[in-house]
Amino acid sequence: MPPRVRFAPSPTGYLHVGGARTALFNWLYARRHGGTFILRIEDTDVERSSADMISGILSSMTWLGLTWDEGPGVGGPHAPYFQTERLDKYRAAAARLVESGAAYYCYCRPEDLAAKRAAAEAAGSAWMYDRTCVVLSPEEVAAREGAREPRAVRFFVPAGGTTFTDLVRGHIAFAREHIEDFVILRSDGYPTYHLSVVVDDVEMEITQVVRGDDHISNTPKQVLLYEAMGATIPDFAHVPLILGPDKKRLSKRHGATSVGEYETQDYLPEAMINFLALLGWSPGGNQEVFSREELVERFTLDGISGGNAVFNSEKLDWFNQQHIMRLPADDILRRLTPAITAAGLWRDSFFTTDADWIGKVIELLKPRARKLGDIVPALAPFVADIVVYDEAAVTKHLKVAGVAAHLSAWLQVVEGLPSLEPAATEAALRVLAAARGIKPGVLIHATRVAVVGQSVSPGLFEVLDLVGRDRVAERLRAYAS
Ligand code: GLU
Repeated sequence: MPPRVRFAPSPTGYLHVGGARTALFNWLYARRHGGTFILRIEDTDVERSSADMISGILSSMTWLGLTWDEGPGVGGPHAPYFQTERLDKYRAAAARLVESGAAYYCYCRPEDLAAKRAAAEAAGSAWMYDRTCVVLSPEEVAAREGAREPRAVRFFVPAGGTTFTDLVRGHIAFAREHIEDFVILRSDGYPTYHLSVVVDDVEMEITQVVRGDDHISNTPKQVLLYEAMGATIPDFAHVPLILGPDKKRLSKRHGATSVGEYETQDYLPEAMINFLALLGWSPGGNQEVFSREELVERFTLDGISGGNAVFNSEKLDWFNQQHIMRLPADDILRRLTPAITAAGLWRDSFFTTDADWIGKVIELLKPRARKLGDIVPALAPFVADIVVYDEAAVTKHLKVAGVAAHLSAWLQVVEGLPSLEPAATEAALRVLAAARGIKPGVLIHATRVAVVGQSVSPGLFEVLDLVGRDRVAERLRAYAS
């Protein structure tokens, strides 16, 4: 049976990196085994959930390429995939549990429970629900139901012990005596998390529950619910937390934590995926840069480590550069089309007659780009008719005694060359410098500033070749005497 896994975010915030990593692990597992990846929105906390957060989560998942096979927008055999649209199922499940004796109605008023808890705490002891309502006779229950008294449904935690096996943590045993009879359906008819998550995971035939470590303490209660429902218990894999560089739980203090912020900051989704995959999972070996397909091929749940992972944004920057380097020029061009257009640098010929040329320009600029968008302004000297000059660079390298005369001689050489093939152009520059008794650097710096407008650029002779002889000559002329 191919696996069925799910990502089940509560839309009380945007998709943060921890959630994205959980989604990624589920997605990789499903793709690796030809399984199904389900997206389920756990929006029963109506007050803290919002439509905005839901669309933010969906859009971040889409940006990361974590496509879901069942869920919002795509539907599926277990629709709807929003928990607020599934309330009937939770109420029916709670009723069945009451019927089978696994759960019972609790009419205790919240204020009475609070008072009992406060009294116990004042006496220095922890309080667990005292089962006041477990002893109500069927007649009394019928009467109170008839009177429509507000009531919750509590799960009756049987005595004994239970164990489950976590694929990351191993064998986990827990004694039930520390688990109180927990509420599964509140008096307002809304399920608690334990009920809704189990009802849905059972109905959606989830085979592996891969989720954050913060849910490990919830698992015993959920195992009890599976047992009471007579359902097959899925495998669990609790993924360790993501920490900041100071080894504290990753939070806003450490910088951007939502996936949307990384999208805005122009990181490549490929880099983000690669980076997140290696936070707490290791394929073994030394390879660090992986394409999405390679990750799918290599992913296993037992590669998830038990130790917490540290979020290092410099490492993310490194992955970003590595993935920029791996992108073919035409792909970069397609991704940057809107930005290049907005910068007024777009030419339709980029995809036709100039495709080769612009491809070479992009290849030349790629290694210097920390973010993909860095390529856009760097295209200007190649594409725009007018160069924007950095005044400091002009003062330093062009407005220097003698430079205009040197450039004038260099201009003549350039005009006489058949093309600006890099090696030949460099040789010609060095010959001229020697003949004029100056260091080649004087001509190199002056030429760079005259042609590019800046004192830094990729290798000058490659730049000159791609800018083209006529334009180079024109720009040299402007500073020659
Ligand atoms: N809705 C839960 C959360 O966002 C996840 C529940 C689960 O994965 O079991 O934390």
